[in-house]
Amino acid sequence: MATVAWIGLGNMGGPMTANMVKAGHAVRGFDLSTHALEAAVAHGVTATASIAEAVQGADVVFTMLPKGDHVRSVYFGEAGILAHAAKETLLIDSSTIDIESAQAVHDAAAAAGFRFVDAPVSGGMSGAAAGTLTFMIGGESGAVAEASGYIEPMSANIIPTGGATTGQAAKICNNLMLFINLASTSEGAVLADRLGLDKQVFWDIASVSSGDSWALRTWYPLAGVVPTAASNNGFAPTFTAELANKDIGLAIAAARSTETPLEIGEHVQQLFQRLIDGGQGAKDCTMIVSLVDGSLAAPAVPASATALS
Ligand code: NAD
Repeated sequence: MATVAWIGLGNMGGPMTANMVKAGHAVRGFDLSTHALEAAVAHGVTATASIAEAVQGADVVFTMLPKGDHVRSVYFGEAGILAHAAKETLLIDSSTIDIESAQAVHDAAAAAGFRFVDAPVSGGMSGAAAGTLTFMIGGESGAVAEASGYIEPMSANIIPTGGATTGQAAKICNNLMLFINLASTSEGAVLADRLGLDKQVFWDIASVSSGDSWALRTWYPLAGVVPTAASNNGFAPTFTAELANKDIGLAIAAARSTETPLEIGEHVQQLFQRLIDGGQGAKDCTMIVSLVDGSLAAPAVPASATALS
């Protein structure tokens, strides 16, 4: 049994820590949200009041935070992980973040004498709950092997990706494909419906045909077909439109720096931006189906634009 510190107990960190507790680890959690912290305590996490308190005596520290800026703020500074963890503690960031932030944390951790890996995940909230996530892990090989041991109760697949930041590179490219698949699934689902097909019958066909994808099988955007889909639940977030926009933005930034044209990815990013502009950024990203079926009203024209016209 290990002592695990966990910073970030949201949609993913919550169920991931539940599996760590089930595996017999002592998990000490910290989150800025009281609601997230209380939910984690209900499944056996011990609440702490600061990062310093959470990491004290920990064998390993996991972070599961929204964006690169959050990860930098939790690692750096007087109240951060690098200032308070013991040097023997293994540090694992499972957030999906930009490569520059991941490299900055690798560099600062190494300079301070820590072992650190970037270990983002795929599999969504349902995979987090089932303990079947795929982890992609970048860093020095000894630290990657050590991290794999701790990760085991949360995962179905643990795949070393190479050196520092390669886990994030794999994750960013995977999610570019996921969100393009989600957009195509939304268009196919709505069109099939309007052509008079029963939605379950169409899903039964597509899920064993060439239109199949993880998005179709896990996040089908029409209600009443796939139990894990947010469409059943008024698009209450399992993966917010805001985070999807962030992820596809990371792919677009990486593509620009490598002169890679992402024509479809750039278009899908605009769909998430329209959802956000329409006030739905905190809803589930599968709500982009509302741009296909027309149920999301167009964002109000800003007053300044009206004045100009
Ligand atoms: P979330 O917003 O539900 O959870 C993030 C948590 O971090 C929140 O509870 C928030 O209060 C907390 N937090 C933010 N700043 C903090 C700080 N300074 N100190 C302590 N806690 C802080 O997000 P999520 O859906 O759990 O996603 C987390 C990461 O995992 C993101 O990078 C996301 O892209 C990635 N991811 C999400 C999914 C998914 O399906 N939701 C799947 C794979 C990867």
